[in-house]
Amino acid sequence: MQITEIYKSLQGESTYAGLPCIFVRLTGCNLRCTWCDSEYTFQGGVKMSLEQVMAEVQRLSPNGLVEITGGEPMLQQREVVPLMQRLLQAGYKVLLETSGERPLASVPSEVVKIVDVKCPDSGEDDTFSSENLNALTPRDEVKFVLSSRRDYDFALDFVRRHDLAAKVNAILFSPAFRKDATGGRDACHCLLDPQQLAEWMIADNIPARLGLQLHKFIWDPALKGV
Ligand code: SF4
Repeated sequence: MQITEIYKSLQGESTYAGLPCIFVRLTGCNLRCTWCDSEYTFQGGVKMSLEQVMAEVQRLSPNGLVEITGGEPMLQQREVVPLMQRLLQAGYKVLLETSGERPLASVPSEVVKIVDVKCPDSGEDDTFSSENLNALTPRDEVKFVLSSRRDYDFALDFVRRHDLAAKVNAILFSPAFRKDATGGRDACHCLLDPQQLAEWMIADNIPARLGLQLHKFIWDPALKGV
């Protein structure tokens, strides 16, 4: 499979935020979100066998949390599904970060899917495949990255229309971060003010949690591999 990087850091998003985690970042994405901070994954990378990826993960940690991310990892479904199975067999807790544009039915049920449903201001709305609603389990999490009130209204409607709170472990609303952010590690880089988002969520009593990208408040937001 084509790999951009494998590294150990802290999980920055989801209900697993703050935990040490190994990231396996696959190369390639079929979307082009306006605020994407992972454009360096679109091309390049190195070809690695399943055994090579397993060896590198085990070198970084013999146990714990592993996130498979990208890019869009499910573009390499033929190789990434066996990788998830091997990681589970080796005793790792496995997270899969995906846009939900590709079919998710083949993902092992023990894997926690973190599905990033694209909102209008991403420029990639309508890319989530509604068939994947049937693949969601009570382990999974659905995330909305928000840049505006328009995005918030879209997410609120999606959550209610699909009764998401009854289907998944967590619904995450996260302000988008400026992709050219650098230097200061603070909320001024958010495209949507977290305070504003918090006020909307409280007013609507929405069954979602506000998530900040923790790693962007710990390290320089322009830093890769964290
Ligand atoms: S799906 Fe993820 S990697 Fe692909 S363009 Fe959007 S933010 Fe970037």
